[in-house]
Amino acid sequence: MHQYTRGFGHPRLVAALAKLYSKLLGRELNPQTEVLTTLGAYEALYSSITGHVDTGDEVIIIEPFFDCYEPMVRYAGGVPRFIPLRPKNNGPVQSSADWILDKYELESVFNSKTKALILNTPNNPLGKVFTYNELSYIADLCKKWNVLCISDEVYEWIVYEPNKHIRIATLPDMWERTITIGSAGKTFSVTGWKLGWAYGPANLMVNLQMIHQNSVYTGNTPIQEATAIAFEKEIARLGSEECYFISISKELQPKRDFMAKFLLESGMKPVVPEGGYFMIADWTPLESQVDLNSEQDKYKDYRFTKWMTKKVGLQGIPPSAFYGSEHKKLGENLVRYCFIKEDKNLQEAANILQKWKSGKS
Ligand code: PMP
Repeated sequence: MHQYTRGFGHPRLVAALAKLYSKLLGRELNPQTEVLTTLGAYEALYSSITGHVDTGDEVIIIEPFFDCYEPMVRYAGGVPRFIPLRPKNNGPVQSSADWILDKYELESVFNSKTKALILNTPNNPLGKVFTYNELSYIADLCKKWNVLCISDEVYEWIVYEPNKHIRIATLPDMWERTITIGSAGKTFSVTGWKLGWAYGPANLMVNLQMIHQNSVYTGNTPIQEATAIAFEKEIARLGSEECYFISISKELQPKRDFMAKFLLESGMKPVVPEGGYFMIADWTPLESQVDLNSEQDKYKDYRFTKWMTKKVGLQGIPPSAFYGSEHKKLGENLVRYCFIKEDKNLQEAANILQKWKSGKS
């Protein structure tokens, strides 16, 4: 356990992953050729992108997106083509389901140079869980234009009732053109373990294997062994209430609802996520209480989050970071908070906002 393990994935772990995803996909996965373990989902993304994208290839990225997609595409010589989800409801409380991908807008970015589309469901930062209908039209366009789908599904187990996580690789004729990415960090709430994986058809996986072999060669042995044991345990109780894949969302749902409530009470407009553990909120109803001039950043959300961290003591992430340069304005009125926290810390956040709102902080 203290020496190098198999480069493309520790045997016990790839066996467990193949067993799990064979069940979930309804097809037999070959652990040797169709599964690769990586240094976090990050490296799975990196190997998928670098292994497929050549100079001048276009890659479609749905905004807001996990921020490393864009630099990884550019680093490979590719050209990112951004397409924003657009909010369709302006009420005080939105759901991530209100953020819609316009079919025609999406269709308009596909062309003969399109090499890949990066999908992220459940999405970070919004928490949107793509529906079968949405995945179907994405899939149809990928098939029409012979495009690879890189599906980042690191939050696959964090989905709130009644939503369901659908793996795009299970849609008709999509297995052949999909690489799906997962993360032990997100699956078992151990982000410090930095272990990820990718699975897909062998003829595509070989492209990831080449990048992996010649950049990191092999992953960490004891972490892979431990994750394999964790998977074996959960596979044995798959479908039962005690299974972590089910209990994690049940544990997080009250935290999500509590955060939505205290953000709303503070005057912000939260977007309640269908999945994941982040929540976006519109902070601009409180703009008059913020000294945006005290910070120099170009985008207002950077100034807001810095001011808030320094003066009020509550840290959020500026969502314009999740947009390409053309659309950064779409993220300026928003902030992203994280609710996978102990209840006492969430309560503290609520108290901080309450105090701030009443002018006492
Ligand atoms: N994809 C998404 C959507 C993420 O949110 C993250 C982590 N925040 C990753 C990939 C990277 O995961 P890992 O820590 O396993 O590299």
